[in-house]
Amino acid sequence: MGVLGVYGVKNASTYLYYGLHNIQHRGQEGAGIVTFDEQGQPCRHRGLGLLSEVFTDGNVLGLEGSIGIGSVKYANVRKGGLDNVDPILFYQTKGDFAVACDGNFINARQIEMLLEKRGIIFQTATDSEIFAHLIKKNNGEDRIVNILKALNMIEGGFSILVMTKNRIYACRDKYGIKPLVIGTLGDGYVVGSESCAFGIMGAKFLRDVEPGEVVTLDAHGLRSNRYSQFQKHRMCAMEYIYYARPDSNIDGCNVHLYREEAGRRLYRECPVEADIVVGVPESSLSAAMGYSQESGIPYEMGLIKHKYVGRTFIEPIQEVRELGVKMKLSPVEDIVRGRRIVLVDDSIVRGTTSLKIVRMLREAGATEVHVRIASPMMRFPCYYGVDTSTKEELLCSSRSLEQAREAIGADSLGYLSPESTRASCFGCADPCQACFTGEYPTVLYNDDAIND
Ligand code: SF4
Repeated sequence: MGVLGVYGVKNASTYLYYGLHNIQHRGQEGAGIVTFDEQGQPCRHRGLGLLSEVFTDGNVLGLEGSIGIGSVKYANVRKGGLDNVDPILFYQTKGDFAVACDGNFINARQIEMLLEKRGIIFQTATDSEIFAHLIKKNNGEDRIVNILKALNMIEGGFSILVMTKNRIYACRDKYGIKPLVIGTLGDGYVVGSESCAFGIMGAKFLRDVEPGEVVTLDAHGLRSNRYSQFQKHRMCAMEYIYYARPDSNIDGCNVHLYREEAGRRLYRECPVEADIVVGVPESSLSAAMGYSQESGIPYEMGLIKHKYVGRTFIEPIQEVRELGVKMKLSPVEDIVRGRRIVLVDDSIVRGTTSLKIVRMLREAGATEVHVRIASPMMRFPCYYGVDTSTKEELLCSSRSLEQAREAIGADSLGYLSPESTRASCFGCADPCQACFTGEYPTVLYNDDAIND
């Protein structure tokens, strides 16, 4: 998921529309924008599909006002469909408000049950709705007090935007698992999942929202509150490895530079003799460049990505994912024929994509295909909103390195170590690597133990 907010800028929805385009890679199943017009009335449009499909010619123009929030959404099976496309709009006598959330509350089920016992019925499967009910439940005088109390009831990795008719509250989880950045735009502000959204909006990066911080943007400017003394910087390593755009900066580390360094370290840890280095477009290209720089093996464009085909990893259904793999990559035969290839990829989740690419390169005439992965073996599920699938579906959850190599049909296979994954952040973060190591930065809950 990607979230974005604009405060204090005329025609906020137009800026949101362009900014959301730059974080479209964070979700392609749905998109939405909510604004408050000058009379304080909420305006919303949302739909399923890419941003350009949801906001066809001109319909962003109906969303008036100088304050707004938007989101792009990826789905898992439980949270699919239009009802679950953020932002969710809530009507309240005290004042309408909208909520958009990137991430996952790991105690969502427990809170849902608590709220249901108090008579609340949910209309969506979103964490945004859970959060809205928690805000409403705490009937403090000020909205900020209600928000701080609500944040202390949830656990997990999340970035949440709450918007009233005259204010945006930007909240980041106390573990710092999800990214959230603030920028300035004229006399106003922007806040969103990635800084790559800011350039196209004409906004300037200001700073990251700190873990455990709530930033309020309103007529008084920018104000900061902390909702917890607990504060860690455990940014999701997969943001650096795969998820974020290379031109984004997260917690002081540029994503492209991270991947390049990971590629250099990958060669030092897993060297191999070969004729060319080929990266799997597009999230692996920076790591492939790093591998090439360190090894001296020339980098070549051996694979071409077809544009306009979605990212396979974030498609919710396996059949759709498999079709996407076939549609999105082609080998450049004149480059790969007769060559020994080092194929650099960012990660292996289920292994289906890797198997197909290795086969594709062999069919195009490659004599050897050595796969090098710029992250550790993914063995454990993610509970923080990255849909890496169940443990059983992960290629490496129960396979040795040799068994994984065999499963994807490569001549050799090598992974980056967790130590180098951390060191590639240039010391600015100690990222969450739970899907590699099984060491989760938060407590975990056992939903099976709940009796309905
Ligand atoms: S478990 Fe993996 S995907 Fe999930 S937040 Fe941690 S590093 Fe990211």
